[in-house]
Amino acid sequence: MIVTLTERADTDAVRRALTGLGLWIESTERSERGPVHFVIGRGSTAVEPERVAGLDGVESVSQSRSKHPRVDAQGVLLRVTDQIVLGEARPVLIAGPCAVESEEQITRLAHRLAALGVQVLRGGAFKPRTSPYDFQGLGAPALAWLRRAADAAGLAVVSEVMSERHVDEVAAVADLLQIGSRNMQSTSLLAAVGRARKPVLLKRSMAATVDEWLHAAEYLLVHGAAGVAFCERGIRSFDPSTRNLLDLGAVALLAGVHRLPVVVDPSHAAGRRDLIVPLARAALAAGAHGLMIEVHDDPACAESDGAQALLPEALADLGRVS
Ligand code: PEP
Ligand code: MN
Repeated sequence: MIVTLTERADTDAVRRALTGLGLWIESTERSERGPVHFVIGRGSTAVEPERVAGLDGVESVSQSRSKHPRVDAQGVLLRVTDQIVLGEARPVLIAGPCAVESEEQITRLAHRLAALGVQVLRGGAFKPRTSPYDFQGLGAPALAWLRRAADAAGLAVVSEVMSERHVDEVAAVADLLQIGSRNMQSTSLLAAVGRARKPVLLKRSMAATVDEWLHAAEYLLVHGAAGVAFCERGIRSFDPSTRNLLDLGAVALLAGVHRLPVVVDPSHAAGRRDLIVPLARAALAAGAHGLMIEVHDDPACAESDGAQALLPEALADLGRVS
């Protein structure tokens, strides 16, 4: 909080009044001929700003500066490619398999998805799996197949970066770099991805507050990211009926109040395909600017997340989103 004194204020009297309220004056600033400002320190007692504004000798009170100024300054629009902008009225549809499994699979899917109005092809080459015994992704070759398939179908590409070692190779093929839920607070990875100077899709950690999510975005921006879109993918809850709990309150808050670009991933939130379409519709109603949906043309044989994969044709049930 910054307290600005009136021209004729008794500085010592105001200081005593502030201290009496439990406020710690971290510093005093006085410009050449201008008014005196007291900067109130963070550890101070919480006092209503109106109470401070009512003290004798106080001209005005302003709240402290934001802790994530770059996020606040970013605005709602995020340019992914020359043609694709997140944050506009027209939602962006991102779809593709959980993991890239072969060149044939991703090429086949890319063409089918493009015909269904999808603009960005997703697909993991490096997969963050809970168990080390599960499919871990096919790595570098999968990235090359993903890019070739997207180019052939006229799509942009998003793919996850899991390690600082892989930033350059993923950045060489992806238009949008994905930070997965499990890495939202890996600050050295955020810094390395930021230095690639590309737009980033920042998935919310399954246990992160909105404030922690905003700070993770600030890490990306302070290190040079071209912009950040926030991807809500469900937070952990007490209820195992769904894989996670889709937090649409956070979507409305970030999209509608903070005016930041927001994408919703109903696939990882629900964990089951029968809930994807209703959750996707609800996400758009809450203000999401994009959807990221897992699809597979043979879900029963998917290497990962088959239970939540939609058949490509099922995207048509969303109605026209883009
Ligand atoms: C993914 O989108 O491929 C993924 C692994 O999701 P999350 O990080 O949200 O679990
Ligand atoms: Mn998945």
